[in-house]
Amino acid sequence: MAVQQNKVSKSRRNNRRAHDALVAANPNECANCGELKRPHHVCAACGHYADREVVAVVDEVDLDEDAA
Ligand SMILES: [Zn+2]
Repeated sequence: MAVQQNKVSKSRRNNRRAHDALVAANPNECANCGELKRPHHVCAACGHYADREVVAVVDEVDLDEDAA
């Protein structure tokens, strides 16, 4: 097992962790439905990307296999 040669001081540890904060997402509005979506990703609400539908969206998925 690798063992560190020197103790990492509180100052050095905290300085390293100064860049660890999470940044908030920066969502865009979907041009088709107005829902907030991730930039450069297909809209999860309507399946559109760049003003055309690229993914078909189903209203409801029937998980009850016995009915079929
Ligand atoms: Zn949309």
